Amino acid sequence: MRVCVLGAGVIGLTTAWELAQRGYEVAVVDRRREPAAETSFANGAQLSYAFVAPLASPETLRKIPGLLLSSAAPVRIRPTLDPDFIRWGLRFLAACNNRMVAETTRAQLALSALSRGALAELAQREALSFGLRTAGKIVLHRTRSSFDAARQQVARQATLQNAEGQQVLTASECLELEPALEIHPNEFAGAIYTPTEQIGDCRLFCQELAVRLQQQPNVTWQLGTHVRKLVMRANRVSGIETSQGVIETNLVVLTLGSAAARFAKFAGFGLPVYPMKGYSITARFASGAQALQHSVTDLNQKIVYAPLKEGYKDMVRVAGIADLVGFDSDIDHRRLTGMMRQAAKFLSLDLESDVRPWAGLRPSTPDSRPIIGWSPISNLFLNTGHGALGWTLACGSARQAAQMIAGEQPAVDPRWFALERRS
Ligand SMILES: Cc1cc2nc3c(=O)[nH]c(=O)nc-3n(C[C@H](O)[C@H](O)[C@H](O)COP(=O)(O)OP(=O)(O)OC[C@H]3O[C@@H](n4cnc5c(N)ncnc54)[C@H](O)[C@@H]3O)c2cc1C
Repeated sequence: MRVCVLGAGVIGLTTAWELAQRGYEVAVVDRRREPAAETSFANGAQLSYAFVAPLASPETLRKIPGLLLSSAAPVRIRPTLDPDFIRWGLRFLAACNNRMVAETTRAQLALSALSRGALAELAQREALSFGLRTAGKIVLHRTRSSFDAARQQVARQATLQNAEGQQVLTASECLELEPALEIHPNEFAGAIYTPTEQIGDCRLFCQELAVRLQQQPNVTWQLGTHVRKLVMRANRVSGIETSQGVIETNLVVLTLGSAAARFAKFAGFGLPVYPMKGYSITARFASGAQALQHSVTDLNQKIVYAPLKEGYKDMVRVAGIADLVGFDSDIDHRRLTGMMRQAAKFLSLDLESDVRPWAGLRPSTPDSRPIIGWSPISNLFLNTGHGALGWTLACGSARQAAQMIAGEQPAVDPRWFALERRS
């Protein structure tokens, strides 16, 4: 059977791989000339299997009035009358409760466990080289209230299946573990350390996987091909109208990241995926400075730091900011400079030479869970909406998607990720 995978980001490529392994004829279509040219390009590089709690929570709800007024906060909301934004926002607010936080955490932990295994298997079998390593992750809390909430989350997660072992550290213990941090112990309340968390560069992974896909006899590529619309006939996608003509296909998998919602509209249904813009820089440590060993999250500043190896000659990726400002992916230099200023207070960085800035749109759902499942259209499958965790969850999401498409028993309860789930 011929399957058309729309989108060659990390979700599309991993889905194409899993389908090709099951013998499908797979066509990968993307508007860019290279894979992973959009949100999968320079993300935070964190394979964050244990930190899966959703953004929508009672704590976030309390902060929303302040976020609407502040221009310097790490999260910014630009309210608009766009009906998609309003619908998304209302569902986000409805998801800000403890029941949903618990359900999402359980669902995401199951998917992240599947992802960890699937990524390890794929990386080893295909000898993919993208700097994968188990560096451990430190999540640092500047305020007592967020540290207390994190300790509760650690206790809650410890009782769940698929939980990773986590340690609660005092500020001094944290600095002993990671001496590269330039923060005084009085400036933060403590940290959570997860030794099993990993780092890897998502774009390098995608490039390596694309090479392996190109070697498969049952995979074809249509890069530089802009998808314009889905041609519908009797509750089926009969073809895909593109800048290179119409592509005929039996089955379509929508892995277009933030653009997916527009194509769902063509097909006559709503998809609650909205862009949440973020930024990164890839930079060097200052000369003579101690290099970072672990991946670190400065939770209250919402900035993540990952020391890179492969392909980046000991650089560090700094990523953060969550702006709900529509589909504009241009770099707002004031936002970027604000993040860089915070980073320079936290680590000894050389921000004068060879700093590589980037911005991308996280394809976000109101409850932070991806949508993996059949759409109301009989031959249209959805694998999108991975938000801030698309790299972490890609391999598990792809496996789950391929299992469902092939009629196998999916590894994770599909109701958790269905389009029509409760929220
Ligand atoms: C600043 C930042 C930091 C992040 N850090 C992390 C992290 O540390 N760990 C983590 O797990 N996740 C992280 N993420 C999230 C992760 O990067 C995303 O969830 C993931 O890349 C989404 O992948 P995707 O394949 O769905 O989307 P994309 O990579 O955007 O792929 C979608 C593809 O669809 C194509 N496309 C779109 N429209 C069309 C069209 N009309 N025709 C043809 N092709 C089209 C695009 O060209 C693109 O290649 C971060 C995101 C950001 C922005």
